[in-house]
Amino acid sequence: MSSVAGLLMDLIAIPSVNPAFCDDPSVHGEKRVADYLADLARKKGLSVSHQPVRGSRRNLLLTYRPSGRPRYRLLLAPHMDTVVASKQQLQPHCQLGRIHGRGACDTKGSIAAMLDALIALIQSENRPRQTEIQLACLVDEEHGQLGSRAFAARAKPFDLGIIGEPTSNKVVTAHKGVMWFELCTRGKAAHGSRPSLGRNAIALMATAVHYLEGEYRSCLEDSKHPLLGVPTINAGSIAGGQQPNIVPEHCSLWADRRTLPGETYRAIAKEVIKGLGALGVRAQLNYRQDAECPALETDPSHPWVQTLMRQRRQPLPIGVDYFCDAAVIAAAGTPCVVMGPGSIDQAHTADEWIRIDSLEQGRQAFLQFMAQLP
Ligand SMILES: [Zn+2]
Repeated sequence: MSSVAGLLMDLIAIPSVNPAFCDDPSVHGEKRVADYLADLARKKGLSVSHQPVRGSRRNLLLTYRPSGRPRYRLLLAPHMDTVVASKQQLQPHCQLGRIHGRGACDTKGSIAAMLDALIALIQSENRPRQTEIQLACLVDEEHGQLGSRAFAARAKPFDLGIIGEPTSNKVVTAHKGVMWFELCTRGKAAHGSRPSLGRNAIALMATAVHYLEGEYRSCLEDSKHPLLGVPTINAGSIAGGQQPNIVPEHCSLWADRRTLPGETYRAIAKEVIKGLGALGVRAQLNYRQDAECPALETDPSHPWVQTLMRQRRQPLPIGVDYFCDAAVIAAAGTPCVVMGPGSIDQAHTADEWIRIDSLEQGRQAFLQFMAQLP
């Protein structure tokens, strides 16, 4: 077995379920994986530090410092947390050229490929003389991006960030953003036998749902991004009313809106409220203001991005639907791309796996890119 495959098997066997999804202390939290990685990195000559994020959760920073004064800086940033894992998913196994287990592609595969490449690089003749390389293993990507937000708030910008996510080793320069919002309609309670004396909050919400899934959606489809396609809306969950014989006073709906570069939460909220107002529906719209998840759009003509694409024999940049840490880090001034082994199709699935050749290709791609840095 190659060193990168062995490393990934080890990482899968160490549970690191995001604490937001599970309260079993024997599997949750990133610390165990971070300790393992720190140990290995230290033995191989990387400098190791921890960045406090929240409570006991910490990002792990593994850094290669060149002998000369660094003139350039590269960031590699996969995440250590995973979604929930069954007992079986914590026992990695190899079969038909694949490694199965939780995190195989999302994103322990990227961690293994990046770290194994970095270790090979610093032991080779090609180690950069003027470029500092930091492998930041982040916490909490799968939930609130606490890790990347803390990192972005503190790090001074890098020349380029490569965010590890399963892109089949393709260079992704754009991804959609996401906004979750709650819509609340307010009615007036009355006896169910005399509905004309009340105002039905569920009926108001029905108009709102009709609007969001109809007129509003077709409006969104008028704006098309060349890499990302159209923004989307999904009315995802709804709750309202108490019992059949009361005219409902409250109804609440949660929606998921996927955004394009340049769209802001504020503007989206205004637009929805205005559209509903025109239909006579007064609704309140709530969203988290402290943790915006914007879209990513990095200029593909950035010289390091061009080099990566040339090495990957990829003529055109790619965009993806899903949100990740890239936009959070890019918003703080580091141009970012997303790239890593494995396919997003297997992320979060009941049988998560990665092809070993994809893992090895990813390692090779990171190594080749880093070896030509000044
Ligand atoms: Zn994920």
